[in-house]
Amino acid sequence: MQEFGCFTSPLKSVKTNHMITKKLGIIGGGQLGRMSALAAARLGIQTFIYCPEQGCPASHVSAGTYFADYNNKKALAEFAAMVDVITYEFENIPVETVKYLQTFKPVFPDEQLLEISQDRVLEKKFLNDIGIKTAEWEPVNSYKDIEPVFNKWNEGAFILKTTRFGYDGKGQAKFKKGDNAKQVWKDLGAGPLIAEQIVDFKCELSMIIARDKLGQMVTYGPMMNEHQNSILHKTTMPPPGGLVTPEIEQDAIKLVQLLAEAVDLVGVLTLELFLTEDGRLLANEIAPRTHNSGHWTIDACVTSQFDNHVRAVCSLNVGAPRQHSDAEMLNLIGDDVKGAAKFLENPNACLHLYGKYDVRAGRKMGHVTFLDEQING
Ligand code: AMP
Repeated sequence: MQEFGCFTSPLKSVKTNHMITKKLGIIGGGQLGRMSALAAARLGIQTFIYCPEQGCPASHVSAGTYFADYNNKKALAEFAAMVDVITYEFENIPVETVKYLQTFKPVFPDEQLLEISQDRVLEKKFLNDIGIKTAEWEPVNSYKDIEPVFNKWNEGAFILKTTRFGYDGKGQAKFKKGDNAKQVWKDLGAGPLIAEQIVDFKCELSMIIARDKLGQMVTYGPMMNEHQNSILHKTTMPPPGGLVTPEIEQDAIKLVQLLAEAVDLVGVLTLELFLTEDGRLLANEIAPRTHNSGHWTIDACVTSQFDNHVRAVCSLNVGAPRQHSDAEMLNLIGDDVKGAAKFLENPNACLHLYGKYDVRAGRKMGHVTFLDEQING
């Protein structure tokens, strides 16, 4: 197979006495926290979860869980006292929460990356400022700003997205000439929006990078991602032959390395990219964390995205991301999970269920990674 994944070799150890048991605090209790906790356990690191929801997926596999709101200062202080170092597993926690926790214990990645990735205008501006290209964009602070965007771009349609709290296609709409600007503005919550030109893309890719305290970086990807109803459906790594040339691969690696260095990353971040029909890479968004498009790394790499995240935030060196098997990851969304048992009969399938007992449409219930085998899904 073609070798993807990049690392500076040989990787140095951050500490010589590196097997220090640490207590790792994770803010957020979803599947990303769960898979990080499982990775931590392999290194003898105990994890403690902070999450408002009883019975969250990460709580099932952790040493302890603190159930409290993200703005409960007393609870945050008590939680910080229980752990040595803190990370977060999703981007919608208040920046203030991270800043407050930092007064007690180190938090990685730090608040700058979180702040940038919470606001699409800040994010696009930051990316452009460090030389990473995106689709053309304009801030929209009132429905009156929409018409001038049409006049400026002279395009028949563009995408409007809420600047904050959008995910899996939520908080966005395609806006066409003749649509009622006031109505769309209202439908999207009457708050700040970003207008983006529609990218004519060949496919969607993502790059994941882990960076440790020595500044050593390892990358995964570019992975090819396919969506259904705006939710990630399938990730293929390596992408089908010919789609990602060695030049595009090198460009994608350089972009994510540039970003990781610009934010002085400690931990993992993800850069979602469009590969345009004319062969350019445009950044879509940043996730300040491990990512669904990297779940295949658990079964197909020497060191997974979760292993490397835990290693980096716990002051250990990042490890080789070498991919030893071709991989296709299929998400199990909503009712898909009801048929999951059939994957247990497939010798090439690695099944992961997140322990979510309430099956809801659009909810990520688990995933399955197929090694060295094409799936038809
Ligand atoms: P996002 O929430 O920004 O990740 O967008 C969700 C999905 O909408 C992306 O994965 C793309 O499939 C699509 N999308 C978002 N922005 C654009 C764009 N500027 N042009 C074309 N498709 C887009």
